[in-house]
Amino acid sequence: MKKRILVTGGAGFIGSHLCNRLLEQNNEVLCLDNYFTGNKENVLSLLDNPLFELIRHDVVNPYMAVVDEIYNLACPASPIHYQHNPIQTLKTSVMGAINMLETAKATGAKILQASTSEVYGDPEIHPQVESYWGNVNPIGERSCYDEGKRCAETLFMDYHRQTNLDIKIIRIFNTYGPNMHPNDGRVVSNFIVQCLQNKDITIYGNGKQSRSFQYVDDLVDGMIKMMATSKDFIGPVNIGNPNEFTILELAETIIRLTNSKSKLVFNSLPKDDPQQRKPDISLAREKLDWSPKIELEEGLKKTIEYFDEILKRDK
Ligand code: NAD
Ligand code: UDP
Repeated sequence: MKKRILVTGGAGFIGSHLCNRLLEQNNEVLCLDNYFTGNKENVLSLLDNPLFELIRHDVVNPYMAVVDEIYNLACPASPIHYQHNPIQTLKTSVMGAINMLETAKATGAKILQASTSEVYGDPEIHPQVESYWGNVNPIGERSCYDEGKRCAETLFMDYHRQTNLDIKIIRIFNTYGPNMHPNDGRVVSNFIVQCLQNKDITIYGNGKQSRSFQYVDDLVDGMIKMMATSKDFIGPVNIGNPNEFTILELAETIIRLTNSKSKLVFNSLPKDDPQQRKPDISLAREKLDWSPKIELEEGLKKTIEYFDEILKRDK
């Protein structure tokens, strides 16, 4: 059945893929964004679709629309961008959550929160399960994002308990793919752009810290499956790829796949940079019958192709 779906942060990296998939499924999509880190180019190919509507709006301010579902993605996700204006990041997470929850309450829509593995902070247990409460610095440079997202989860749970709202919470682990911004600052886009331009690869710290990288198509599958669950399953549920790599391994793989002449340079490690990150996805397997399908090299090849094209075009 055709639904009317609001995607906040829809012109960003993940949001643009989600809008595209929802349209492919013949839904009507309202894409709302203030273009802080996203841009119209990510959704350019969707603009001709009569089922697609693009709205410039900041989620810090209320927004009303009669919709069946809301995916709340609006929030900068890269450390350099969310630390650029930390007060705005917190406002986006917290006031954005309240405003979208109020929209859901007023219209009876189901609402999904794009939360993050950052709610686990620098985790003391490995891999991370949803029942782990995390190890987060509340006063550090990453706190505007980590604590903002934690507070948004709290708000979602409180609206659910207090007003019986139909909510869903997913915790997304490091995701990459086409439509990431070349200056996004996250590790996969940085390394690919550096390799394609034969520039030095910036390893922060000794590169032995780990992350688990998920290709964006797998995430979108998980998001849509989560939204489709019945009212009694609200999460939080981890959505990520459990294959773990050190940052050095990632750099070596990207050098090989791009045939690059780039050399590694070692810079200082940003404050509160988590040492390791790997999702336990048993809950997603059980409740959503979901697991990632795309291995790192396959996903990296598609992403390299994308960056190669846009770097040549922008020359
Ligand atoms: P992104 O920066 O590409 O997209 C975020 C989008 O939100 C952008 O289009 C931006 O312009 C928009 N936005 C920011 N503040 C806004 C505001 N106040 N009002 C309206 N729009 C606003 O990042 P992404 O990687 O696509 O992340 C999307 C969501 O997924 C975020 O909520 C992020 O926290 C979450 N997430 C992403 C990852 C990842 O690895 N990519 C991991 C965990 C969680
Ligand atoms: N990183 C790096 N070089 C870069 C960008 C990031 O070594 O050019 C490291 C960063 O310190 C972190 C990891 O890669 O340990 C992942 O960083 P990213 O910003 O992509 O995501 P997050 O830290 O939020 O998981």
